[in-house]
Parts: sequence; structure tokens; C-alpha cells
Amino acid sequence: MKKLAGVCLHIDRGEKAIVWALRDAPGGETESGWVFLCAAAEVGIMGNRVPWPITRVLKDDPSLTSLVDGPVGAILQKQDSGWWRRLR
Ligand SMILES: [Zn+2]
Repeated sequence: MKKLAGVCLHIDRGEKAIVWALRDAPGGETESGWVFLCAAAEVGIMGNRVPWPITRVLKDDPSLTSLVDGPVGAILQKQDSGWWRRLR
């Protein structure tokens, strides 16, 4: 089954790269709970999200591949070096 994530409008439009990865409790069986935001987004502030299959997210940023199995509650920020730093 293809699980869905939510991405901000900038990422959906291809304008910005993914910088924040946050995992909430999934709202349903088809949802992953993941939200991916660009650098312009502030953590905790809800905006419009566009549903993307996780597979599309990983194609957009393969560096997330090893992280998407992370636990609910995870918050990660991509560093300038390209590594993901786990904040929670
Ligand atoms: Zn954005």
C-alpha cells in the first residue's frame, strides 16, 4: 500500500527543498503521519498540505529513505551538509 505524506505548497510546486520532516500519529491506514516542509515553514504552524505518496517524497529527496521508518513524534531538520539532524 502506498502511504501518504503531506508536503507544503512550495515543495509541491517544486520551488523549495525539504528541510523539515515531522511525524504525527497517522490519521488513517493510508496515511504515514509524515509532514515535509521547506525552510520557510515554522514547525508547529499548520498550513495547507498537499498529499504525496511517500514514494514520491523519497524520489524528491532520497536522503530521507533511511528515516521514514522513524517513530511518531520524530522531528528532523536537514543540515547544510545534507545530513538530517534528529531534534526529537
Ligand atoms: Zn513551504
